[in-house]
This record gives sequence, structure tokens and C-alpha cells, in this order.
Amino acid sequence: MEIVIIGAGVIGLATAWRTAARGASVTLVDPDPASGASTVAAGMLTPVSELTYGEEALLRLGLASRARYPSFVAELEELTGRETGLRTDGVLQVAFDADDLAYLDDLRRFQESLGLAPETLTGREVRGQEPMLAPGVRGGLLVPEDGSIDPRRLAPALLAAAEKLGVRLVRRRADAVLVERDAAAGVRLDDGTRLPADRVLLAAGPWSSDIGGLPPGTVPAVRPVKGQVLRLRTRTPFLRRCTRGLVKGSSVYLVPRADGELVVGATQEEMGFDTRVTAGGLWELLRDARELVPGITELEFAEVTAGLRPGSPDNAPVLGPSALPNLVLGTGHFRNGILLAPVSADVLTEMLLDGTVPEQARPFTPDRFEVTA
Ligand code: FAD
Repeated sequence: MEIVIIGAGVIGLATAWRTAARGASVTLVDPDPASGASTVAAGMLTPVSELTYGEEALLRLGLASRARYPSFVAELEELTGRETGLRTDGVLQVAFDADDLAYLDDLRRFQESLGLAPETLTGREVRGQEPMLAPGVRGGLLVPEDGSIDPRRLAPALLAAAEKLGVRLVRRRADAVLVERDAAAGVRLDDGTRLPADRVLLAAGPWSSDIGGLPPGTVPAVRPVKGQVLRLRTRTPFLRRCTRGLVKGSSVYLVPRADGELVVGATQEEMGFDTRVTAGGLWELLRDARELVPGITELEFAEVTAGLRPGSPDNAPVLGPSALPNLVLGTGHFRNGILLAPVSADVLTEMLLDGTVPEQARPFTPDRFEVTA
């Protein structure tokens, strides 16, 4: 089976590795592999902490993916000899004022109604967990099973794993999907080269709707949602674990890594394909982070970056066969692409190689939209 994958972000990379492991002949097309949002992302694995009303199906997919992470990473690290910075030591959610606490209470009730069991902590208890938190922090929730990973280690490790299993990497842009007899038959590159394929996976993140050659409506409109992220550096441990905060209704998160990096994020802006970092974005992040952990202003500044989350019309991933036979879509992962990489790779591999749609993926197939590209 000859597979061509358009896009070597975390979704395309993980799927290339998994399909190659099952013996497929795989070509991965990307002018700039292991880049995109996959390297800006904070890497939180937080299906429970980020639970949102109306997204119960996404919760189930997220829980399934979180459960797969330890074995996924163990296999990846063994194959490549690279570390990915997986942490499974829980995520703390804290409330800055009384209104923020009321919101967290609501969230806890919703989590409990779905059988999830976060631990409720008083202000004193959250400060016991994280002594750097501001004295006024009202309370919080601890989700012991949520965690994080370092996407800047994960994406190159996935690329190394894919190449180790014989995936061919073509560092060019895919211009169009080739269509023959009303079915996808390969990919045309920007230099005119044609790569024939039995099946094509479109995993080009927020650029997925821009690929040529497709009948109108084949790909739902995937839009870029900008996120700015700040990276700081600490010499001594600053926070023990990933901490998400609500500060006067605005959310901010801080993700510590074992090497001293502290990621502070993230803005959420509908600005098209704009990846400029702005004074306002940076100010917003620092303002909220400083309210929560005042000592943050002492840390060394390392970097500020902006990336584009691929958002589908309902903000849920698009996983499954398109209306065009032999073209499978793996896009629209929005704010959860790192979390969802293991499960997405597994379901996309089944769709590409067996032509079946696993139960878990059914709520996310492209036919749920009245598609308009
Ligand atoms: P991308 O990573 O965007 O990769 C798409 C790839 O397609 C790129 O490499 C690009 O070069 C390539 N491409 C584009 N056009 C073409 C073409 N024509 N031909 C060939 N290749 C092409 N997720 C989490 O789970 N947890 C988090 O904590 C988290 N934090 C985030 C914070 C920020 C600020 C942002 C921006 C995102 C965050 N995300 C998080 C979301 C996550 O990063 C994305 O959902 C994920 O990276 C999407 O992966 P992808 O492979 O679909 O797309």
C-alpha cells in the first residue's frame, strides 16, 4: 500500500510512523517538517482540566489518547533513543478571585457528572502544592491523571521514528491532490513532480483547506487560530507541576519542563495567517501570570512565539474519509493536537490501511459538516 501524507506536523508525523510500522510504503511531504503549531504548543495533556460544555465526545477521545501516551512514548523513545519530556504528575487549576472560584466549582460539578474525580483544594492547600502562588489565590482543583509533554522534543522524535522505519521525507510543498477516475490518486508537488498513491492523508493543519485539485466542499473550512506563547528560563525549580489559572475570568497556564523552561500561554486570536508577536499579547500573558505567581518577573526571558491552531467549524478534529475516495482527512485538532496525536495516529492508520472507521472516530468524521471549503 502506497501512502502519501501531506503535512509533517505532529499529526502527519505520528501517522507516518504508525502506518510505516504496519508495513505501508509512506511518503511524507512538507517543506518544513516538525514545524508549525507542533513546535509552539505548550504540550498540555489535559482532557479533564480543559473540559468544555458540549464537548463530551472530545473528552472521550482525549481520555483515550491520554491513556495511550505512556506506551506511545515508551515505544518512541526506545526506537529513537530520544526523550520527549512526558510528565504524568497531574495538573493544578487555580482560581484567583471569588468569581474564578465559582467558575471552577461549576467545572468540578460538570467533571463529576461525567464520572471524573478532580481533588478540590482550598487556598491553603493549593499554596501547599505550589508555594510560588500568590497569597490571595482562592482555591483550586487537582487532576492527578492530566500531564504534559514537550512538543519540541516530541515532533523531532516522531520524525526520527518515521525515517527509521523507512518513511521517505520530501521537503516540498504539496500543490494539489491528483484526482483520477473520481478518486485521489496521489499528490502534485510545487515543482510539478507527481507522487502516485493508493491513499492520501491530508494533515496540513490550518493550511488543509488550501490544497488544490479537490472538488469544492471536499475539505471543511479549517481556519488558523493564533496563539502567542512566552518561554522563560529558571535555574532552580519554580513550579512543581503544570498549573492552569483563572485570573479575573481570563485564563493563563504555566508549564514547567525538567530542563528549567517555563512555558506561559496562550492568547487565542482570530487573525488569519498572522504569526506576529505583539506587545499586547505578551502583556496579557505576563499580566495574568504575574497576578498568579508574582515571582515570575524575576525569571530570565527566553523567547516569545506565535503559532496557528487548526480550527474546524465546530472546533473538533476532522478525522476520516472525505467525500473523495482514497482521500483521508486528519486535521482541525485546534487546541488539542498534541494530546490527540496518539489516538489520531491509530485511527488514521486504520482508515488508511484497512479502510474502516474505528468507533472512537465516528463523532469526528468529515461528513458531519455540510462541507464548504
Ligand atoms: P501543524 O503542526 O500546524 O502542522 C501542519 C504541517 O503542514 C506544517 O508542518 C506545515 O509546514 C505543513 N504544510 C502546510 N501546507 C502544506 C503543503 N501545501 N504541503 C506540505 N505540507 C504543508 N495542543 C495540545 O494538545 N496541548 C497544548 O498545550 C497545546 N498548546 C498550544 C498552544 C499554542 C499557542 C498553539 C498555537 C497550539 C497549541 N496546541 C496544543 C495545538 C496543537 O499545537 C495543534 O493542534 C497541533 O500542532 C496540530 O498539528 P497538525 O499536525 O495538525 O498541524
